[in-house]
Amino acid sequence: MAKEKDKVISQIPVIWLHVSSCSGCSVSVLNSVSPKIKNLVVDEIIPQRKVNLLFQEVLMAASGKTALKILEDCEQAKPGNYILIVEGAVPVGGKGIFGTIGEDKQGQPRPMFELLKSISKEAMAVIALGSCASFGGISAAYPNPTGCVSVLEFFSQQKINKPVINIPGCPPHPDWFMGTVVDVLLSGLPGKECLDELRRPKIFFSKLIHESCPRRADFDVGRFARNLSEKGCLYMLGCKGPTTYADCPVRKWNDSVSWCVESGTPCLGCCEPEFPDFNAPYYEKTIPSSVNEEQDSEKGEK
Ligand code: SF4
Ligand code: SF4
Repeated sequence: MAKEKDKVISQIPVIWLHVSSCSGCSVSVLNSVSPKIKNLVVDEIIPQRKVNLLFQEVLMAASGKTALKILEDCEQAKPGNYILIVEGAVPVGGKGIFGTIGEDKQGQPRPMFELLKSISKEAMAVIALGSCASFGGISAAYPNPTGCVSVLEFFSQQKINKPVINIPGCPPHPDWFMGTVVDVLLSGLPGKECLDELRRPKIFFSKLIHESCPRRADFDVGRFARNLSEKGCLYMLGCKGPTTYADCPVRKWNDSVSWCVESGTPCLGCCEPEFPDFNAPYYEKTIPSSVNEEQDSEKGEK
């Protein structure tokens, strides 16, 4: 009993800020199976280390002024060494009027980007969660009237120099998020060798979907589906597996039940910076077969 009492638990403060997002990334992560979200926010996720989730607007009971007060306290108290999770792209158009949180001292709407700028300054590291935060994604899709940019682009504009880990996906797989957070708690910030050139953790994003796809044998012999319900490779129906790096075919989704191609729909390339504008049109063959050959030979050379 005494031992239990004396146990020192170190807490890692986490602030989870939504900017221009649909909250789909939060919803996906809440569906994590192992560990469960409860394990992340309540338990010692690794012995004697736990997350102290200070602000997360989807999960927290507080709302309105009470919630804003928590955020203001975080901003002013500077809890130090905290991890900042950003969900959504950053709306910088129209001087920030398209996305505001609370009010400034003059009672005017406060642009999300100002809050992000302020809170990111003291962060130990920033996790850009989802394709909007990582690359702009749906929020920055043409014609992008709100002027949304990725977190890295925003930091570059504001000359903020912080280590950023991108976890793309529309939405991201819960394992990609949980695995990254637990890795940071266990081993600290990932070194450059652990991230790819787009700052995605290599452990999840080092292989093309196309390499591990169960329909790859169909591709190799030219057996292509012409309709979504047919067997065969979905390449002629616009599958972006040949240009998308993610482990969906081996990890699968929804507690390993299935994943896009297995359930009969082409990969949309949701983890790549080209998503959604430059991967369009969907459900039509858009990748020339030469790209596929180049990708394979590039990976072989690495
Ligand atoms: S093109 Fe798509 S469906 Fe066909 S083998 Fe590659 S990843 Fe699988
Ligand atoms: S298979 Fe493609 S579209 Fe589906 S979740 Fe994975 S990367 Fe995204």
